[in-house]
Amino acid sequence: MSEGKPRVSRRIGSVAESATLAIDAKAKALKASGVDIIGFGAGEPDFPTPASIVEAAAKACADVKNHRYTPTAGLPELRAAIVTKTARDSQVEITTNQTLVTNGGKHAIYNAFATLLDPGDEVLIPEPYWTTYPEAVKLAGGTPIAVPTTLESEFKVSPATIEKYVTPRTKLFLFVSPSNPTGSVYSPEETKEIAQFCADKDLWILADEIYEHLTYDGIKAESIANHDPRGLDKIVIVNGVAKTYAMTGWRVGWMIGAPDIVAAAINLQSQSTSNVANISQRAAIEALIGDQGPVSIMREAFDRRRKLITSLLSEVPGINCPLPKGAFYVYPDVSGLLGRDFGGVRPSSTSELASVILDQAKVAVVPGEAFGTPGYFRLSYALSDNDLEIGISRIAKLVSESAQ
Ligand code: PMP
Repeated sequence: MSEGKPRVSRRIGSVAESATLAIDAKAKALKASGVDIIGFGAGEPDFPTPASIVEAAAKACADVKNHRYTPTAGLPELRAAIVTKTARDSQVEITTNQTLVTNGGKHAIYNAFATLLDPGDEVLIPEPYWTTYPEAVKLAGGTPIAVPTTLESEFKVSPATIEKYVTPRTKLFLFVSPSNPTGSVYSPEETKEIAQFCADKDLWILADEIYEHLTYDGIKAESIANHDPRGLDKIVIVNGVAKTYAMTGWRVGWMIGAPDIVAAAINLQSQSTSNVANISQRAAIEALIGDQGPVSIMREAFDRRRKLITSLLSEVPGINCPLPKGAFYVYPDVSGLLGRDFGGVRPSSTSELASVILDQAKVAVVPGEAFGTPGYFRLSYALSDNDLEIGISRIAKLVSESAQ
Protein backbone atom coordinates (compact mmCIF):
# COMPACT_ATOMS: atom_id res chain seq x y z
CA MET A 1 0.00 0.00 0.00
CA SER A 2 1.40 3.38 -0.93
CA GLU A 3 2.05 5.72 1.95
CA GLY A 4 -0.77 8.25 1.67
CA LYS A 5 -1.02 11.49 3.51
CA PRO A 6 -1.86 11.00 7.21
CA ARG A 7 -5.53 11.52 8.02
CA VAL A 8 -4.65 13.64 11.03
CA SER A 9 -1.92 16.22 10.47
CA ARG A 10 1.46 15.43 12.01
CA ARG A 11 1.23 18.63 14.03
CA ILE A 12 -2.06 17.74 15.70
CA GLY A 13 -1.29 14.02 15.75
CA SER A 14 1.71 14.73 17.96
CA VAL A 15 -0.32 16.52 20.64
CA ALA A 16 -0.83 14.48 23.80
CA GLU A 17 -4.26 14.33 25.36
CA SER A 18 -4.57 16.40 28.54
CA ALA A 19 -3.87 13.77 31.20
CA THR A 20 -5.60 15.72 33.91
CA LEU A 21 -8.78 16.17 31.89
CA ALA A 22 -8.64 12.49 30.84
CA ILE A 23 -8.46 11.32 34.45
CA ASP A 24 -11.21 13.69 35.43
CA ALA A 25 -13.38 12.40 32.55
CA LYS A 26 -12.76 8.78 33.61
CA ALA A 27 -13.65 9.59 37.23
CA LYS A 28 -16.77 11.51 36.17
CA ALA A 29 -17.87 8.64 33.86
CA LEU A 30 -17.42 6.10 36.68
CA LYS A 31 -19.38 8.39 39.00
CA ALA A 32 -22.17 8.74 36.42
CA SER A 33 -22.37 4.94 36.15
CA GLY A 34 -23.06 4.77 39.86
CA VAL A 35 -19.56 4.09 41.22
CA ASP A 36 -18.82 6.13 44.33
CA ILE A 37 -15.62 7.85 43.18
CA ILE A 38 -13.78 10.57 45.07
CA GLY A 39 -11.95 12.73 42.53
CA PHE A 40 -8.76 14.58 43.40
CA GLY A 41 -8.05 14.96 39.68
CA ALA A 42 -9.63 18.18 38.48
CA GLY A 43 -8.13 21.60 39.09
CA GLU A 44 -11.51 23.14 39.68
CA PRO A 45 -13.06 24.82 42.73
CA ASP A 46 -16.08 22.97 44.11
CA PHE A 47 -17.85 26.27 44.96
CA PRO A 48 -20.60 27.70 42.80
CA THR A 49 -19.75 30.97 41.08
CA PRO A 50 -20.59 33.81 43.52
CA ALA A 51 -24.22 35.00 43.19
CA SER A 52 -23.46 38.60 42.18
CA ILE A 53 -21.48 37.33 39.18
CA VAL A 54 -24.26 34.96 38.13
CA GLU A 55 -26.75 37.83 38.45
CA ALA A 56 -24.64 40.06 36.20
CA ALA A 57 -24.67 37.28 33.59
CA ALA A 58 -28.42 36.73 33.88
CA LYS A 59 -28.98 40.45 33.35
CA ALA A 60 -26.62 40.42 30.37
CA CYS A 61 -28.64 37.62 28.74
CA ALA A 62 -31.68 39.86 28.50
CA ASP A 63 -29.78 42.73 26.89
CA VAL A 64 -29.87 42.45 23.13
CA LYS A 65 -26.50 44.12 22.66
CA ASN A 66 -24.91 41.03 24.13
CA HIS A 67 -26.51 38.87 21.45
CA ARG A 68 -24.16 40.27 18.80
CA TYR A 69 -20.53 40.04 17.81
CA THR A 70 -18.36 42.48 19.72
CA PRO A 71 -14.70 43.44 19.22
CA THR A 72 -12.37 40.42 19.01
CA ALA A 73 -10.14 41.79 21.77
CA GLY A 74 -12.99 41.88 24.27
CA LEU A 75 -15.67 44.25 25.55
CA PRO A 76 -14.08 47.65 26.19
CA GLU A 77 -15.52 47.54 29.74
CA LEU A 78 -13.85 44.20 30.44
CA ARG A 79 -10.53 45.36 29.03
CA ALA A 80 -10.82 48.43 31.29
CA ALA A 81 -11.64 46.16 34.25
CA ILE A 82 -8.49 44.13 33.52
CA VAL A 83 -6.44 47.35 33.55
CA THR A 84 -7.97 48.32 36.92
CA LYS A 85 -7.57 44.85 38.40
CA THR A 86 -3.94 44.57 37.28
CA ALA A 87 -3.06 47.87 38.96
CA ARG A 88 -5.00 46.87 42.10
CA ASP A 89 -3.66 43.32 42.48
CA SER A 90 -0.21 43.48 40.89
CA GLN A 91 0.68 47.18 40.97
CA VAL A 92 1.39 46.88 37.24
CA GLU A 93 0.19 49.81 35.12
CA ILE A 94 -1.08 48.93 31.66
CA THR A 95 -3.41 50.38 29.04
CA THR A 96 -6.39 48.67 27.41
CA ASN A 97 -4.50 48.06 24.15
CA GLN A 98 -2.19 45.81 26.15
CA THR A 99 -5.05 43.40 26.94
CA LEU A 100 -6.76 40.63 24.97
CA VAL A 101 -9.75 38.72 26.37
CA THR A 102 -9.52 35.00 25.56
CA ASN A 103 -11.53 31.81 26.03
CA GLY A 104 -9.91 30.98 29.34
CA GLY A 105 -6.31 31.08 30.47
CA LYS A 106 -5.53 28.08 28.31
CA HIS A 107 -6.46 30.00 25.18
CA ALA A 108 -4.31 32.92 26.34
CA ILE A 109 -1.37 30.51 26.63
CA TYR A 110 -2.05 29.11 23.18
CA ASN A 111 -2.30 32.60 21.68
CA ALA A 112 0.86 33.74 23.45
CA PHE A 113 3.02 30.86 22.22
CA ALA A 114 1.54 31.05 18.70
CA THR A 115 2.34 34.77 18.62
CA LEU A 116 5.88 34.54 20.01
CA LEU A 117 7.39 31.31 18.70
CA ASP A 118 9.00 30.38 15.41
CA PRO A 119 10.02 26.81 14.54
CA GLY A 120 13.11 25.86 16.51
CA ASP A 121 12.60 28.42 19.27
CA GLU A 122 13.20 26.80 22.64
CA VAL A 123 11.02 27.41 25.67
CA LEU A 124 12.33 26.68 29.16
CA ILE A 125 9.68 25.06 31.34
CA PRO A 126 10.33 24.25 35.01
CA GLU A 127 9.50 20.60 35.69
CA PRO A 128 7.10 19.34 37.05
CA TYR A 129 4.94 21.39 34.70
CA TRP A 130 1.26 21.71 33.97
CA THR A 131 0.57 19.39 31.02
CA THR A 132 -0.66 22.09 28.62
CA TYR A 133 2.58 24.07 28.42
CA PRO A 134 4.77 21.69 26.40
CA GLU A 135 1.91 20.76 24.10
CA ALA A 136 1.02 24.41 23.44
CA VAL A 137 4.71 25.12 22.71
CA LYS A 138 4.85 22.22 20.23
CA LEU A 139 1.62 23.32 18.55
CA ALA A 140 3.24 26.70 17.95
CA GLY A 141 6.27 24.99 16.36
CA GLY A 142 8.54 25.60 19.33
CA THR A 143 10.59 23.12 21.34
CA PRO A 144 9.81 22.66 25.03
CA ILE A 145 12.89 22.20 27.24
CA ALA A 146 12.28 20.97 30.78
CA VAL A 147 14.30 22.55 33.58
CA PRO A 148 14.38 20.04 36.45
CA THR A 149 13.70 20.91 40.07
CA THR A 150 13.70 18.91 43.31
CA LEU A 151 11.32 18.47 46.20
CA GLU A 152 14.09 19.86 48.44
CA SER A 153 14.13 23.15 46.48
CA GLU A 154 10.30 23.26 46.77
CA PHE A 155 10.21 22.49 43.02
CA LYS A 156 11.55 25.97 42.25
CA VAL A 157 14.26 26.90 39.76
CA SER A 158 17.08 29.38 40.30
CA PRO A 159 19.02 31.34 37.67
CA ALA A 160 21.97 28.95 38.17
CA THR A 161 19.83 25.99 37.10
CA ILE A 162 18.06 27.81 34.29
CA GLU A 163 21.40 28.92 32.87
CA LYS A 164 22.42 25.31 32.20
CA TYR A 165 19.56 24.99 29.73
CA VAL A 166 19.95 28.28 27.86
CA THR A 167 21.17 27.90 24.26
CA PRO A 168 21.33 30.36 21.36
CA ARG A 169 17.87 29.05 20.40
CA THR A 170 16.23 29.81 23.76
CA LYS A 171 13.52 32.44 23.33
CA LEU A 172 11.37 32.25 26.41
CA PHE A 173 11.23 31.23 30.06
CA LEU A 174 7.94 30.15 31.55
CA PHE A 175 7.26 31.47 35.04
CA VAL A 176 4.33 30.12 37.02
CA SER A 177 3.80 31.09 40.64
CA PRO A 178 1.81 29.70 42.40
CA SER A 179 2.48 26.55 40.44
CA ASN A 180 0.28 23.83 39.13
CA PRO A 181 1.02 20.99 39.99
CA THR A 182 3.26 21.73 43.00
CA GLY A 183 1.66 24.74 44.70
CA SER A 184 5.10 26.37 44.99
CA VAL A 185 5.29 30.13 45.30
CA TYR A 186 8.42 32.14 44.49
CA SER A 187 9.44 34.77 47.05
CA PRO A 188 9.82 38.39 45.88
CA GLU A 189 13.64 37.97 45.99
CA GLU A 190 13.54 34.78 43.91
CA THR A 191 11.15 36.42 41.45
CA LYS A 192 13.46 39.41 41.12
CA GLU A 193 16.53 37.23 40.51
CA ILE A 194 14.76 35.34 37.73
CA ALA A 195 13.48 38.55 36.14
CA GLN A 196 16.98 40.03 36.18
CA PHE A 197 18.45 36.82 34.77
CA CYS A 198 15.94 36.79 31.89
CA ALA A 199 16.68 40.45 31.16
CA ASP A 200 20.45 39.77 31.16
CA LYS A 201 20.02 36.81 28.79
CA ASP A 202 17.46 38.64 26.66
CA LEU A 203 14.83 35.96 27.28
CA TRP A 204 11.12 36.57 26.97
CA ILE A 205 8.97 35.61 29.96
CA LEU A 206 5.53 34.05 29.90
CA ALA A 207 4.06 34.59 33.38
CA ASP A 208 1.04 32.45 34.25
CA GLU A 209 -0.66 34.27 37.13
CA ILE A 210 -3.91 32.31 37.21
CA TYR A 211 -3.41 31.26 40.88
CA GLU A 212 -2.22 34.72 42.04
CA HIS A 213 -4.92 35.02 44.74
CA LEU A 214 -4.50 31.52 46.13
CA THR A 215 -1.56 31.91 48.49
CA TYR A 216 -1.43 31.05 52.18
CA ASP A 217 0.44 31.81 55.41
CA GLY A 218 0.51 35.52 54.53
CA ILE A 219 2.66 34.97 51.44
CA LYS A 220 2.01 37.07 48.35
CA ALA A 221 2.75 35.96 44.80
CA GLU A 222 4.30 38.99 43.17
CA SER A 223 3.96 39.70 39.49
CA ILE A 224 7.31 39.17 37.80
CA ALA A 225 6.41 42.21 35.69
CA ASN A 226 7.23 44.33 38.75
CA HIS A 227 10.81 43.12 38.73
CA ASP A 228 11.81 43.06 35.08
CA PRO A 229 13.97 46.10 34.26
CA ARG A 230 12.50 45.95 30.74
CA GLY A 231 8.97 46.53 32.08
CA LEU A 232 6.40 44.70 29.97
CA ASP A 233 8.45 44.86 26.78
CA LYS A 234 9.28 41.15 26.78
CA ILE A 235 6.74 39.76 29.24
CA VAL A 236 3.40 38.24 28.43
CA ILE A 237 1.11 37.69 31.42
CA VAL A 238 -1.72 35.16 31.20
CA ASN A 239 -4.53 35.06 33.70
CA GLY A 240 -8.23 34.27 34.02
CA VAL A 241 -11.28 34.19 36.28
CA ALA A 242 -11.54 30.38 36.52
CA LYS A 243 -9.67 29.64 39.75
CA THR A 244 -10.11 32.87 41.74
CA TYR A 245 -13.86 33.21 41.20
CA ALA A 246 -14.89 29.55 40.79
CA MET A 247 -15.64 30.23 37.11
CA THR A 248 -14.01 27.32 35.28
CA GLY A 249 -17.05 26.80 33.04
CA TRP A 250 -17.43 30.43 31.96
CA ARG A 251 -14.26 30.42 29.85
CA VAL A 252 -12.79 33.86 30.37
CA GLY A 253 -9.08 34.56 30.49
CA TRP A 254 -6.78 37.24 29.14
CA MET A 255 -3.29 38.01 28.05
CA ILE A 256 -1.33 41.16 28.76
CA GLY A 257 1.77 42.24 26.88
CA ALA A 258 3.49 44.89 24.84
CA PRO A 259 1.09 46.60 22.39
CA ASP A 260 2.68 45.05 19.27
CA ILE A 261 2.48 41.53 20.69
CA VAL A 262 -1.13 41.97 21.81
CA ALA A 263 -2.07 43.45 18.42
CA ALA A 264 -0.58 40.39 16.70
CA ALA A 265 -2.44 38.03 19.05
CA ILE A 266 -5.69 39.92 18.36
CA ASN A 267 -5.13 39.31 14.63
CA LEU A 268 -4.69 35.61 15.32
CA GLN A 269 -7.82 35.49 17.45
CA SER A 270 -9.79 37.48 14.83
CA GLN A 271 -9.19 34.61 12.41
CA SER A 272 -9.96 31.84 14.88
CA THR A 273 -12.37 32.28 17.79
CA SER A 274 -13.34 36.01 17.58
CA ASN A 275 -14.85 37.51 20.73
CA VAL A 276 -15.44 35.51 23.88
CA ALA A 277 -19.15 34.98 24.70
CA ASN A 278 -20.45 38.37 25.82
CA ILE A 279 -22.47 36.93 28.69
CA SER A 280 -19.30 35.43 30.14
CA GLN A 281 -17.45 38.67 29.61
CA ARG A 282 -20.15 40.62 31.47
CA ALA A 283 -19.89 38.12 34.32
CA ALA A 284 -16.11 38.56 34.34
CA ILE A 285 -16.44 42.35 34.70
CA GLU A 286 -18.47 41.82 37.87
CA ALA A 287 -15.95 39.25 39.08
CA LEU A 288 -12.95 41.51 38.57
CA ILE A 289 -14.24 44.83 39.87
CA GLY A 290 -17.23 43.81 42.00
CA ASP A 291 -17.16 42.65 45.62
CA GLN A 292 -13.97 40.66 46.27
CA GLY A 293 -15.33 39.18 49.51
CA PRO A 294 -16.04 35.69 48.10
CA VAL A 295 -12.39 35.36 47.06
CA SER A 296 -11.15 35.43 50.66
CA ILE A 297 -13.93 33.12 51.83
CA MET A 298 -12.94 30.52 49.24
CA ARG A 299 -9.25 31.03 50.01
CA GLU A 300 -9.91 30.33 53.70
CA ALA A 301 -11.65 27.08 52.80
CA PHE A 302 -8.76 26.04 50.54
CA ASP A 303 -6.28 26.92 53.26
CA ARG A 304 -8.09 24.69 55.77
CA ARG A 305 -8.20 21.81 53.27
CA ARG A 306 -4.54 22.34 52.38
CA LYS A 307 -3.52 21.73 55.99
CA LEU A 308 -5.96 18.87 56.36
CA ILE A 309 -4.88 16.96 53.26
CA THR A 310 -1.18 17.49 53.99
CA SER A 311 -1.50 16.15 57.52
CA LEU A 312 -3.66 13.20 56.47
CA LEU A 313 -1.32 12.21 53.64
CA SER A 314 1.73 12.63 55.86
CA GLU A 315 0.35 9.97 58.19
CA VAL A 316 0.39 7.39 55.38
CA PRO A 317 3.63 5.38 55.45
CA GLY A 318 5.46 5.69 52.12
CA ILE A 319 4.05 9.14 51.31
CA ASN A 320 6.10 12.33 51.76
CA CYS A 321 3.84 15.35 51.41
CA PRO A 322 5.31 18.85 51.68
CA LEU A 323 2.95 21.67 52.71
CA PRO A 324 2.41 23.80 49.58
CA LYS A 325 2.16 27.59 49.80
CA GLY A 326 -0.26 28.27 46.97
CA ALA A 327 -2.84 27.09 44.39
CA PHE A 328 -4.99 24.12 45.44
CA TYR A 329 -2.75 21.12 44.86
CA VAL A 330 -0.48 18.93 46.93
CA TYR A 331 2.33 17.12 45.16
CA PRO A 332 3.51 14.30 47.43
CA ASP A 333 6.36 11.91 46.71
CA VAL A 334 4.68 8.49 46.65
CA SER A 335 7.60 6.49 45.27
CA GLY A 336 7.74 4.70 48.65
CA LEU A 337 4.56 2.83 47.67
CA LEU A 338 5.91 1.38 44.43
CA GLY A 339 6.56 -2.35 44.31
CA ARG A 340 4.16 -3.15 47.14
CA ASP A 341 1.47 -5.78 46.65
CA PHE A 342 -2.00 -4.26 46.27
CA GLY A 343 -4.40 -7.21 46.08
CA GLY A 344 -2.09 -9.12 43.74
CA VAL A 345 -0.95 -6.10 41.70
CA ARG A 346 2.54 -4.66 42.18
CA PRO A 347 2.64 -1.24 40.51
CA SER A 348 6.10 -0.31 39.28
CA SER A 349 5.21 3.22 38.17
CA THR A 350 3.08 5.96 39.66
CA SER A 351 0.86 5.71 36.57
CA GLU A 352 0.09 2.10 37.47
CA LEU A 353 -0.30 3.02 41.12
CA ALA A 354 -2.89 5.67 40.20
CA SER A 355 -4.85 3.00 38.25
CA VAL A 356 -4.70 0.64 41.23
CA ILE A 357 -5.99 3.38 43.51
CA LEU A 358 -8.80 4.20 41.11
CA ASP A 359 -9.78 0.54 40.68
CA GLN A 360 -9.40 -0.63 44.26
CA ALA A 361 -9.98 2.46 46.42
CA LYS A 362 -12.27 4.36 44.01
CA VAL A 363 -10.15 7.46 44.31
CA ALA A 364 -8.86 9.47 41.32
CA VAL A 365 -5.44 11.14 41.50
CA VAL A 366 -3.14 12.34 38.70
CA PRO A 367 0.21 10.54 38.47
CA GLY A 368 3.41 12.59 38.25
CA GLU A 369 4.08 11.18 34.77
CA ALA A 370 1.50 13.71 33.52
CA PHE A 371 3.72 16.54 34.76
CA GLY A 372 7.08 15.14 33.65
CA THR A 373 8.07 13.75 37.07
CA PRO A 374 7.20 10.11 37.81
CA GLY A 375 7.22 9.23 41.51
CA TYR A 376 4.64 11.80 42.56
CA PHE A 377 0.89 12.26 42.65
CA ARG A 378 -0.99 15.49 42.19
CA LEU A 379 -4.09 15.79 44.33
CA SER A 380 -6.37 18.79 44.05
CA TYR A 381 -7.88 19.77 47.38
CA ALA A 382 -10.63 21.84 45.76
CA LEU A 383 -13.28 19.43 47.00
CA SER A 384 -15.41 19.33 50.14
CA ASP A 385 -13.72 18.67 53.51
CA ASN A 386 -15.88 15.58 53.88
CA ASP A 387 -14.96 14.08 50.48
CA LEU A 388 -11.35 14.97 51.16
CA GLU A 389 -11.29 13.01 54.42
CA ILE A 390 -13.10 10.03 52.91
CA GLY A 391 -10.79 9.99 49.87
CA ILE A 392 -7.55 10.09 51.84
CA SER A 393 -8.81 7.52 54.36
CA ARG A 394 -9.54 5.17 51.44
CA ILE A 395 -5.96 5.58 50.19
CA ALA A 396 -4.64 5.06 53.74
CA LYS A 397 -6.72 1.87 54.12
CA LEU A 398 -5.53 0.53 50.77
CA VAL A 399 -1.92 1.18 51.74
CA SER A 400 -2.35 -0.40 55.17
CA GLU A 401 -3.76 -3.54 53.53
CA SER A 402 -0.96 -3.76 50.98
CA ALA A 403 2.03 -6.00 51.57
CA GLN A 404 5.77 -5.68 50.96
N1 PMP B 1 -2.77 27.91 33.94
C1 PMP B 1 -2.70 26.97 34.89
C2 PMP B 1 -1.42 26.81 35.64
C3 PMP B 1 -3.80 26.14 35.14
O1 PMP B 1 -3.72 25.22 36.11
C4 PMP B 1 -4.98 26.31 34.39
C5 PMP B 1 -6.19 25.42 34.61
N2 PMP B 1 -5.93 24.13 34.98
C6 PMP B 1 -4.99 27.31 33.42
C7 PMP B 1 -3.88 28.09 33.22
C8 PMP B 1 -6.16 27.55 32.50
O2 PMP B 1 -7.36 27.77 33.06
P1 PMP B 1 -8.63 28.14 32.22
O3 PMP B 1 -8.36 27.85 30.78
O4 PMP B 1 -9.72 27.30 32.77
O5 PMP B 1 -8.85 29.61 32.42
